Amino acid sequence: MSRVINDSENRITCGWQGYKGHNGVDLGWRVDEVQNNIYANCKGKVIDIKDGLGTLPLADKSWGNYVLIEHPNGMKSRYAHLRKGTIKVNVGQEVDENTILAVIGESGSVNGRHLHFEVYRDNDRIDPTEYLTKPIYEEKNEEQPKTDDTYKVGDKVLVLTGYATADSFGGGSRTAYYNGDINDSSNIKYITKIQTDSPRAYHLSNEPLNGREIKDTKPRGWVSIGQIKKI
Ligand SMILES: [Zn+2]
Repeated sequence: MSRVINDSENRITCGWQGYKGHNGVDLGWRVDEVQNNIYANCKGKVIDIKDGLGTLPLADKSWGNYVLIEHPNGMKSRYAHLRKGTIKVNVGQEVDENTILAVIGESGSVNGRHLHFEVYRDNDRIDPTEYLTKPIYEEKNEEQPKTDDTYKVGDKVLVLTGYATADSFGGGSRTAYYNGDINDSSNIKYITKIQTDSPRAYHLSNEPLNGREIKDTKPRGWVSIGQIKKI
């Protein structure tokens, strides 16, 4: 099934050329405007938007107007060079493959009207070609535990692997990386909040809350149960 735009797999005008080359895929516009609607690849949340830009010099290397989505597995997708004023979603909005994000445009640094589509894993861009026909995130059938009685708010934990996304309390798009080395204090955190219905169920901070509100801490984002170990 085509994702992102109709017939996406047959509309590549410039392919992925590696991390240091063309680090996305370009998809061409069509005369029939309905064919220029851009959809989210799959379920996710809009985390960044840029709008209001027209065409800019190629030397600017600008995405122009874009929508950036974070998917439940932490991967991200970016839809760039959007037509000015056509973005139909807001930051924080939950979207899925049926959500129209915007229309293919010519904002930013472009040679012609097209969509530049990027996919990120651990904040690095990866070849997005396969995601023109498959979801970046798929709901697993087997029940994965999201939370566990082992952990309570206030527990000291070692962060084993991966990363924590910055959250709304922290603002911005900071991402912290962890490697499970118990001798490295940056891997030692305290559970400050648990949201049982989220795949990233545990909110971690450098210090225990000691009765304060979560917004009074320096947040280090949310992680999944597989990323932590009680110490
Ligand atoms: Zn491109």
